[in-house]
Amino acid sequence: MENEGMQQLIYTMNKLQDAVSAAGVELEVDLPQIAVVGEQSAGKSSVLENFIGKEFLPRGTGVVTRRPLVIHLFYSPDKEYAIFNHQPNKTFTDFKEIQQEIIVETDRETGKTKNVSAKPITLRIYSPNVLQDLTVVDLPGLTKVPVGDQPKDIAVQIQNMVKEFISQPNCLILVVTPATQDIANSDVYKIQKDTKPAGERTIGVLTKLDLMDKGTDAREILENKIFPLKRGYIGIVSRSQKDVETNKDIKKALQDEYMFFKKHPSYKHLAHQMGTKYLQETLNKQLKAHIQECFPSVWSTLQHQLINMKREYEKLENIIGEADDAGKIKCMTSIVYEFANEFKKRLVGQTETAN
Ligand code: GDP
Ligand code: MG
Repeated sequence: MENEGMQQLIYTMNKLQDAVSAAGVELEVDLPQIAVVGEQSAGKSSVLENFIGKEFLPRGTGVVTRRPLVIHLFYSPDKEYAIFNHQPNKTFTDFKEIQQEIIVETDRETGKTKNVSAKPITLRIYSPNVLQDLTVVDLPGLTKVPVGDQPKDIAVQIQNMVKEFISQPNCLILVVTPATQDIANSDVYKIQKDTKPAGERTIGVLTKLDLMDKGTDAREILENKIFPLKRGYIGIVSRSQKDVETNKDIKKALQDEYMFFKKHPSYKHLAHQMGTKYLQETLNKQLKAHIQECFPSVWSTLQHQLINMKREYEKLENIIGEADDAGKIKCMTSIVYEFANEFKKRLVGQTETAN
């Protein structure tokens, strides 16, 4: 498929994704997407912010990301703005405001309890810094200990949410692990192993390469020799906590990242396949390939559902068409009643997952 057709396809997939999450309707099809998983402080938010060159994600201690955040990234040559699905008429141009809105919208669903919810927040970001159109889902970081009012089983809740996401066959998984940590002991690696076929769909991201102890390096992991992944590893160096506090420009940080790999004796032979820019390109390429791969099955599922819906609709039309006035009213009442019941069930279901 030529590039333009492919862009159109990604666009259509995004629209479908939005329609599904907005309506709360169970469309029985898993659309291709990229989920970002990793433990708290692994560097997930930093990677996503590098893509846009701006800070826009809430930060802090504890579980900051408490709902899946679906971010559609679009290249826009001269304007930079964002739109949330829950507020389609408002254009955000101040990225601090985006950060604030994510916090407010998170609390709207979870209350102030610091609990997690599987109901996603969706936004579109248009920026000249987006190299490739891409959809990523930032998931809550894997955690071990509940803080404050968090329920005792928060770790399990988050694990289940992550597992559910990554077990979808149409999900590419970006596993973010800091190079300062032993990969073999990371929760992410374990989840990966437990969800076997997921390994096929995983891209490894190794962050904090600049923080490794002197004399050690992650060369063999990056060469895909130690815990080999079908799609390999990409090394990343993001801004440190101090860089963030001193407001170091992300664009400057990206140049420094480029030089880090170029100059480092253990990584310079890999420099062309390391860093944020290469990660963006790779994700876009793999997502396209992945969409092409899953498209036939997504398409046939959609067609099936359409046929079923048409059948239902025709059945209804027949019933309503044949009935006299009293019959029509009775029929409409029962439809409304059924709808209300279904709605109530969904609502209760949602509150239950939120609590
Ligand atoms: P998240 O919890 O996975 O979203 O992690 P963050 O992106 O918020 O990063 C956690 C902390 O690690 C922040 O203070 C970042 O500035 C810092 N950090 C992230 N990536 C790197 C990196 O590659 N190098 C250095 N030195 N610090 C990093
Ligand atoms: Mg984060």
